[in-house]
Amino acid sequence: MSALAAVGSVPQQHLASPAAIAVRELVHRYDNRTALNGVTFDVRPAELFGLLGPNGSGKTTMFRILSTLMVPVGGRAFILGHDAARDPSQLRREIGIVFQSQSIDVKLTATENLRHQGHLYGLRGKDLSARIESVLERVGLADRAKEKAENFSGGMQRRLELAKGLLHGPRVLLLDEPTTGLDPGARRDVWQYLRLLRDQDQVTVLVTTHLMEEAERCDRLAILNEGKLVALGTPTELKREIGGDVIVLDVKEPESLSSRIQTKFDMDVRVVGGQIRLERDHGHRFVSDLFEAFPGEIDAVSIAKPSLEDVFIRRTGHRFWSEQEQHGLTTETRRQEKH
Ligand code: ADP
Repeated sequence: MSALAAVGSVPQQHLASPAAIAVRELVHRYDNRTALNGVTFDVRPAELFGLLGPNGSGKTTMFRILSTLMVPVGGRAFILGHDAARDPSQLRREIGIVFQSQSIDVKLTATENLRHQGHLYGLRGKDLSARIESVLERVGLADRAKEKAENFSGGMQRRLELAKGLLHGPRVLLLDEPTTGLDPGARRDVWQYLRLLRDQDQVTVLVTTHLMEEAERCDRLAILNEGKLVALGTPTELKREIGGDVIVLDVKEPESLSSRIQTKFDMDVRVVGGQIRLERDHGHRFVSDLFEAFPGEIDAVSIAKPSLEDVFIRRTGHRFWSEQEQHGLTTETRRQEKH
């Protein structure tokens, strides 16, 4: 086949944009509050793409626009070339959606849940039965097909939600915080299935999350803050922009000491959340220079390789979690780890 013939078989819209998902200058407001403020990014085919941001950054708004539940006030969003606002019914056929809230009926078996879902998509008979079997196999629930969902663990219920989203064979799967409320083991499980979908079925997966350790598992990330895109890239690329180690100092007078460090060592120094933050190669060596230069002024020090939170702080000037949220999250994590 000639190159031209090959191009001729590709739908027009894919020539215009090879992206599976294309978001262009997207804007959304609720009354006077701006939830998305000119966000642009592409998701490539068969990519596991994360939308990371703290509470209120606009993730759910983006998810709702992409899944055609809401029309943006400005900009456009395309999935496989279909415009979410102008061509929602075509677009809906191409996507699977997994909502944060539970949508399965726990009084029904796994198969019954999927049969209902299939009917919504006009699937019936042998074709539907075959799809149910295959999708249960894919999410590792084939041997529990005839059991009521109420007997399933939280992780298994989530996998059944995943199966529902996959039943009609979508090429793009959108998931809103799919691991909320799951223990760490079940979380890992869900991510393992998302990777399988990408690798074996070439499904494009877009997942929203507020968890850094989940964002680390994505091929690429868009980081949102207050409705704006603040970073876009692979987790490794994003962390590489930070030179060397991240050093955080607890001190009594952060503002005063930070400007003296800045002057003495001629480097960028920030005060974030009452702590001094610096980026420096060979952090351990530099810390001893600091102690020598400012004896008795540093109460505690931490040195670490850059994390995604460091990327967020560098781009926004503030921490990912507010102090209150940080406390709430720690309590929640502890609670989950106990179970
Ligand atoms: P996230 O999913 O990242 O927590 P959201 O998209 O839910 O963020 O919210 C983005 C902003 O829009 C926040 O300031 C939030 O308070 C506001 N918002 C979200 N939904 C509504 C709504 N239905 N009415 C008014 N404001 C809303």
